[in-house]
Amino acid sequence: THVVTQPCDGCRYTDCVVVCPVECFYEGPTMLYIHPDECIDCEACVPECPVEAIFHEDDVPEEWQSFVQLNAEKCEDA
Ligand code: SF4
Repeated sequence: THVVTQPCDGCRYTDCVVVCPVECFYEGPTMLYIHPDECIDCEACVPECPVEAIFHEDDVPEEWQSFVQLNAEKCEDA
């Protein structure tokens, strides 16, 4: 799955959401999250993100590792 990280917080662009073929983005109060069970790793969203906040879960920078769990938690009830 892909994961939305820190730079997304407060960004407000939704270019990534528009291109996702499976509509697996969920909107939180200040940032977006990707549902880990729905993302098909197509990577269409990655170049659309103006703040480079989206990574494959295996490539998330060390300082943002907590976002892997956070994306999953935020999407649980969605
Ligand atoms: Fe959607 Fe593809 Fe991005 Fe996953 S990698 S969130 S399926 S656009």
